[in-house]
Amino acid sequence: MSATTVGLTFKVTPAVKRAPAAERGRILANPGFGRVFSEHMAIASWERGRGWHDAMVRPYGPIAMDPGTSVLHYAQAVFEGLKAYRQQDGRIAVFRPEANANRFRRSARRLALPELPDSAFVEAIDQVVRLDADWVPSEPEHSLYLRPFMYASEVNLAVHPSDEVTFVLIASPSASYFPSGVKPVTVWLSEEFSRAAPGGTGDAKTGGNYAGSLLAQAQAAEHGCDQVVWLDAIEHRWVEEMGGMNLFFVFGSGAKARLMTPELTGTLLPGVTRDSLLMLGQDLGYEVEEGRIGVEQWQAGCADGSLTEAFACGTAAVITPVGAAKSARASWLIGDGKPGAVTMRLRSALVDIQHGAAPDVHRWMHAVPLA
Ligand SMILES: *Cc1c(COP(=O)(O)O)cnc(C)c1O
Repeated sequence: MSATTVGLTFKVTPAVKRAPAAERGRILANPGFGRVFSEHMAIASWERGRGWHDAMVRPYGPIAMDPGTSVLHYAQAVFEGLKAYRQQDGRIAVFRPEANANRFRRSARRLALPELPDSAFVEAIDQVVRLDADWVPSEPEHSLYLRPFMYASEVNLAVHPSDEVTFVLIASPSASYFPSGVKPVTVWLSEEFSRAAPGGTGDAKTGGNYAGSLLAQAQAAEHGCDQVVWLDAIEHRWVEEMGGMNLFFVFGSGAKARLMTPELTGTLLPGVTRDSLLMLGQDLGYEVEEGRIGVEQWQAGCADGSLTEAFACGTAAVITPVGAAKSARASWLIGDGKPGAVTMRLRSALVDIQHGAAPDVHRWMHAVPLA
């Protein structure tokens, strides 16, 4: 962290015109995901040799960009995703922002971008959420989705680490991922495409990983599946993750259930939800482990009944049960194809902490100081 970035403070210019309460209420009643945005955004600039400067919070609006801006050509950019939740007592708290700040710095390093100090990351969130507190929904499982991102803003077509970088934070009210109850997904095991290879950018949260995944996602849909499951790029055998979510497998049942999630080999994205569930699983008395599971082992475990449940986890949906799996050669049910008991117990335990309905023993919730 250079001296110029210590104590980066955001100059606040509140929006003059605000949406009338009735209009806001109409939007918040059915926000969907990522379609509508709150009224403020944070923005800061970085220049090589100067560091971070001109940090501000201002009314939400377009960013003018020269067509020669580096990020449009070479995708030097990283992002984050986290949520602010209305607490049962009416206050607002953000789930583990320090963990996302930390991952944002690690992703930035991998993409040869400057690191934003954790304090500035959290400060940007505090300022935007404080100003847009009315945009944090209070319906069950609704939230204000926060999207920090950083990109190469230098105007230059020469391939090199950008000498100018822009950080932005926007916020989007979002509805429950499962408006009509938690529904299991069917997954397509992609043996043709790879998401990430050793030495690549699989453990960085960068848009390019998503761009490369869209064709496989389309292929999954053609096979009647909801999501892609990525396998390792070398043997196309070891299960890595699902779309933009990490995977967990449950062996056995009841109090003796054992949770297993693929270990972080460098090609998986280290999810904050994954990390939280490893701790929460232990709190609930389950044996938890980071390990390795192959496609044949997944199928065989379901056939002999030892593998009882599977689920995906991430900020957007918290936990999504996986009901069935399909590959070019086989298709099988996981358990009876319905959401499993361990899956749903973990899900409500985490959702309760996020909404302030259960004790926050790990001090995961960051209270936003409201005016
Ligand atoms: C963001 C993301 C996840 C989940 O991370 P969370 O911090 O739990 O939201 C998993 N996989 C990929 C590829 C991701 O981009």
